[in-house]
Amino acid sequence: MLRNDIDAFIKTIPNDVTIVAATKYVGSEEMRELLKHGINNFGENRVDSFLQKYDELKDCNINWHFIGHLQRNKCKDIINKIDCLESLDSLELAKMIEKYRTEPLDCYIEVSINLEENKNGVDFHNIDSFIEGLKEYKKINVKGFMMMAIKADTHEDLLQQFNSLKELKDKVENKFNMNIPYLSMGMSNDYKEAIQSGATHIRLGRILWNL
Ligand SMILES: *Cc1c(COP(=O)(O)O)cnc(C)c1O
Repeated sequence: MLRNDIDAFIKTIPNDVTIVAATKYVGSEEMRELLKHGINNFGENRVDSFLQKYDELKDCNINWHFIGHLQRNKCKDIINKIDCLESLDSLELAKMIEKYRTEPLDCYIEVSINLEENKNGVDFHNIDSFIEGLKEYKKINVKGFMMMAIKADTHEDLLQQFNSLKELKDKVENKFNMNIPYLSMGMSNDYKEAIQSGATHIRLGRILWNL
């Protein structure tokens, strides 16, 4: 069920920050409820639940983000149904997208700022060669970076993690003469710090629902 004060909660988020509702805890009925409150960016983690919800919500106007790890062998099942892949994490996956997608796809590169603690994403230190490697894939529109913060004890630690993604974005834009508008970072526990560091998209799950 949606939290009772959902409209008031949404009002606390700055207008220029997009809420992507992480829907792994809920089903299509809860998502319909959320649509009535003006949120239509949804982020799903798993291919099977994505496909089910996609079918059940065919009548709705939804921007589908995929935010979980996408296995190469499942790429073709969903790739023409999503509007944005937030979890581009390998060149092998990029190759599959190039093969199966029929038109260019907005993608965010998932970055791991500390590979020891978070195995998901492209190593922060290898982003330059990753960007180089993507150049041959014409269907990949690099629109942003995505990250998940690792466990932090302090507000400052979180800010530092998010700021490092912001700095990475600025560096890549300069070096490759690209415009990369989006930063998807921040979840229920740390979205405030993420916004402070320049997040354009926050992926919210638990905080939206009474679970
Ligand atoms: C579940 C999930 C979220 C949201 O997490 P909450 O802590 O429930 O807000 C965000 N991003 C990804 C990739 C997720 O899997």
